[in-house]
Amino acid sequence: MVITKESNVDVLIIGAGPAGYMLANWLARTGVTNVRIIDKRSTEIFTGQADGLQCRTLEIFQSFGFADRALKEANHMLEICFWEPDKDGVIHRSGRMPDTIIGISRFQQMVIHQGRIEAWFTDAIKKWSSGKLAVERPVLPETLAIDESKVDDPEAYPVSVNLRHLKKDNALPEQFGSKISNGLFRAYDDAGDYKGDANDELETVHAKYVVGTDGAHSWTRRQIGIELEGEATDYIWGVLDAVPITNFPDIRLRCSIHSQDSGSIMIIPRENGLVRLYCQLKEAPRDEGDGSATARRMDRSKITPEFILNTAKKIFAPYTLEVTDIKWYTGYQIGQRVAKQFQKSNRVFVGGDATHTHSPKAGQGMNTSMCDTFNLGWKLAHVIKGLADPSILTTYEQERRQVARDLINFDYKFSRLFSGKPKSKDSDEGVSLEEFKKFFEKGNEFASGTIVDYDGSMLINKPKGVSASNSGHEELYLNPLAKGCPIGRRFDQAQVVMQSDCRPYYLNDMMLSDGRWRVVYFAGDIKRQTKLYDFMLKFGNYLDGKDTFVKRYTPATAQLDSVIEILLVHASERVSVEWDEFPTAFRIRDHKERMNYWKIFADDDSYHEGHGHAYNNYGVDPLFGAFVVVRPDGHVADVQELTTQGIDNIDKFFSAFMLPQTPSWTSHGGYIPSTEPE
Ligand code: FAD
Repeated sequence: MVITKESNVDVLIIGAGPAGYMLANWLARTGVTNVRIIDKRSTEIFTGQADGLQCRTLEIFQSFGFADRALKEANHMLEICFWEPDKDGVIHRSGRMPDTIIGISRFQQMVIHQGRIEAWFTDAIKKWSSGKLAVERPVLPETLAIDESKVDDPEAYPVSVNLRHLKKDNALPEQFGSKISNGLFRAYDDAGDYKGDANDELETVHAKYVVGTDGAHSWTRRQIGIELEGEATDYIWGVLDAVPITNFPDIRLRCSIHSQDSGSIMIIPRENGLVRLYCQLKEAPRDEGDGSATARRMDRSKITPEFILNTAKKIFAPYTLEVTDIKWYTGYQIGQRVAKQFQKSNRVFVGGDATHTHSPKAGQGMNTSMCDTFNLGWKLAHVIKGLADPSILTTYEQERRQVARDLINFDYKFSRLFSGKPKSKDSDEGVSLEEFKKFFEKGNEFASGTIVDYDGSMLINKPKGVSASNSGHEELYLNPLAKGCPIGRRFDQAQVVMQSDCRPYYLNDMMLSDGRWRVVYFAGDIKRQTKLYDFMLKFGNYLDGKDTFVKRYTPATAQLDSVIEILLVHASERVSVEWDEFPTAFRIRDHKERMNYWKIFADDDSYHEGHGHAYNNYGVDPLFGAFVVVRPDGHVADVQELTTQGIDNIDKFFSAFMLPQTPSWTSHGGYIPSTEPE
């Protein structure tokens, strides 16, 4: 092999699916652009694959500034209907409920195909990297080696990967049996017999970090010897995206249909008149597999749109079903597996489908995959920029592996309830549809992604083992000062009013995903409580001091609020406090001496959008106030009281992992050029 090029990069991302795109986007957003992202496919995705966007994912898109594209382009799913056999075995609607639990988020579940989501990321990455970062395709990694002697040196590039730039024609997967675009293909390297082309360009990349987001058959995972735990199930499902012609009345609503003898179906109404049918294929053709009863593999090459449609027709009966404009189809056998580790030497990481596989009906695959790298991205950026100690990277596996395990447990129950035969008047055996509905209702909370609860660590200030996601721990870890801000969960959304211009905002929209920590300073009712007013002046004085937890970790070349930002939310009437009563530390000037008007808020009425009751939502008493420390990924890291001890505790929290900057900020104000990509 003749290597024609050699280079050093901070991060090499292998695989440009939702997880890889999310990571590239995060890094670009935080100004880390010595990054490469490669994919073996010659083109991006145009149809099919994942389609559901959960509440938490939409909140994250909002924090990156492109949720509006989902709101405009995607189909909004507002109701789910349950259909089941009546006493004569004929399907009827047995119930309905909101598709998203009311009040769980400001966003509700939506659906749109994966290719559009990847297109939004492409645009965002281009914008934040000023065009420097884009997916390179078709590029195939061939070898990966870690120089273990260098992994403890933060400046080293210990991971070497050889890459082969393919000819476009060599990267087109072989499709099985159809001209319609489908998920039934054998990629050229799946068979392990791709020998390359003598004219392929070859190169070696030396990386500080490599992240494998290369899907369920992850090459990266195999290179670092990580195994999967779990097993395949006997359930086989077909997926068909098409425009339906039917007299079934709920075809534009999400529905689950359990038929008496023909299996189950999930209907997902989609954009552009499309509907996705997830259809159980009880009579799917199988090969022998390894001979065990639970792992007889389906024969993918024999799954056709006609086969899926014919099965769907039997489940729909007595309603009729034909389709036109078939856009995509696939078949899959549910496997429920989790990777034993998510990293090697904290230098090579895997995320997304590379670490967890399960059934797609609850719309979790793509969402959980993006949330994996949303968790990892800011940590990598912090370490690469020299802001934090590399040990913070250990929390990625700790936090996301727990989520993956919870997901598999959820999927295990959901798949069995959804795929099982319903109880009938003649037999008490089978699935109770009441149980299914109850589980669905509870499962919706989990599926929304909003209740992920990270365990105690250097980045989450609570004891280890008290995360509500851990089996056996149902309790949230709450500080009584902010009962609506469980430590470990995402900081919830609530409306406040800007002090300077009385415009109402979701507080989270002022806490965008740009790599900053936020200390939300709930100052309390400063007008009526003299002690709270005095504390505000005291905290302002502290922030003006030389050695504060804000200045110590902020490089002198960066804006003072670019690493840790303080946002003040008070509980007095907005008009009862004058702008210049707030200490200057809360309205710091930028490098052009312009005042910052966007950091002080009131929990008060707005003229047109009502009252947000933020203190109530966050569970903060206006008589006491609180500090809530929020991580760059929006998870609550710490809650402290408004005292000198509270300030010291926040200082102690940051000092466990943030690196003092030399030189750091030493005084307030002055001309400091911004390094942020605003
Ligand atoms: P992927 O989206 O799988 O992305 C991995 C990327 O890595 C791909 O672009 C691939 O080309 C690239 N890659 C793989 N190997 C290499 C390599 N060696 N070198 C370079 N690049 C590589 N979810 C649903 O919710 N509903 C569905 O109906 C559904 N259907 C699916 C059908 C198929 C065929 C597939 C593959 C997935 C489907 N999923 C579905 C799952 C959903 O798409 C995934 O959960 C989600 O895309 C995971 O994102 P990811 O980025 O981790 O992996």
